[in-house]
Amino acid sequence: MAHIELKHLVKKYGDGFPAVNDVSLDIADGEFVILVGPSGCGKSTLLRMVVGLEDITSGELDINEKRVNDLAPRDRNLAMVFQNYALYPHLTVRENIAFPLRLAKGKHSEAEIQAKVDRAAEMLELTEHLERKPANLSGGQRQRVAMGRAIVREADAFLFDEPLSNLDAKLRGQMRTEIARMQRRLGITTIYVTHDQVEAMTLGDRVAVLSKGILQQVASPRELYEQP
Ligand code: ADP
Ligand code: ADP
Repeated sequence: MAHIELKHLVKKYGDGFPAVNDVSLDIADGEFVILVGPSGCGKSTLLRMVVGLEDITSGELDINEKRVNDLAPRDRNLAMVFQNYALYPHLTVRENIAFPLRLAKGKHSEAEIQAKVDRAAEMLELTEHLERKPANLSGGQRQRVAMGRAIVREADAFLFDEPLSNLDAKLRGQMRTEIARMQRRLGITTIYVTHDQVEAMTLGDRVAVLSKGILQQVASPRELYEQP
């Protein structure tokens, strides 16, 4: 579980205009925050700063009341869920979910690995698909396998970077529902980046609107929607 605090975060590439400009945002444990704005407004940069793939120029990032500016990505215990799900096509669902545990060589016994995978599969309603390969799954099921990988690692939060932008409209609708349902079921802190207004209005607890690196507004979808 994670309480994530962004305090006056700034990112400058070279000596140009800041890509992220004094962004402060307090994300509660279990909250689902949507980061929305047009292409080039700094969404990816901000997400990459949180996950640790991009240095913070100034400001402070706290996870569970601890400053993490200088922590390597793997020590922040956050899980990035990628757009293409990054599943291994030749591995079964079971082995795809187990993968992060096998990477930590010798840290987990085989029985422990199987127990963790079974528990994650149950949470994600994947139990009957464990022996299948990704090619034989629906888009929503693949998304859940990707989330399963984050769950077995016991990541404190999910970070999504435009996970639905390559899908057709029908599948996108189904996946929106799926992601919202799973996030509520798991109650895990989530930051979700998108430029899609519909996703922004339907998915999260709060919407943070970014424009030219500046946080313009943070409000519930209802508050944003009811504005004149
Ligand atoms: P978004 O995700 O909202 O499309 P980005 O965070 O990718 O926006 O980019 C924000 C701004 O920072 C853009 O002007 C982009 O060109 C610039 N930018 C992003 N990454 C780099 C980089 N590695 N070097 C220089 N400029 C960058
Ligand atoms: P996204 O679709 O996530 O916004 P982009 O196509 O903007 O991604 O950027 C892809 C990669 O290129 C990212 O790693 C980003 O940091 C980098 N990048 C974006 N803009 C620039 C730039 N102006 N100069 C150098 N690298 C950039």
